[in-house]
Amino acid sequence: MPMKHPHKYSHVKTPIGKLWVCSECPHYMPKHMEFLLPGRKATCNICDNVYDFTPEKMESDQPICDECELARKLRIQDREEKYGQSNSDEPNEEMLAELAKIVIGDK
Ligand SMILES: [Zn+2]
Ligand SMILES: [Zn+2]
Repeated sequence: MPMKHPHKYSHVKTPIGKLWVCSECPHYMPKHMEFLLPGRKATCNICDNVYDFTPEKMESDQPICDECELARKLRIQDREEKYGQSNSDEPNEEMLAELAKIVIGDK
């Protein structure tokens, strides 16, 4: 990451309280300056897209861009459609395979 970039904010506990910090550089936002954050640009924690840092985004400790939010919503919906109806206690092969994929990753 270059020195100047839209910070990749996440809300983390620190010894001086919960702060918005950038995971790509030493930047953090002091508590009394947080009012400056809404309206800024930030970098998505998932895909590195730049998005508008709005008060709605700040409700999450790991804010992500609109596209990732949508993708996450669709995935949850998809999962509910696929697995929601089954009341079986048996581990679902398909779900296990998917979990393994998430843990191992694509790389
Ligand atoms: Zn930064
Ligand atoms: Zn994203």
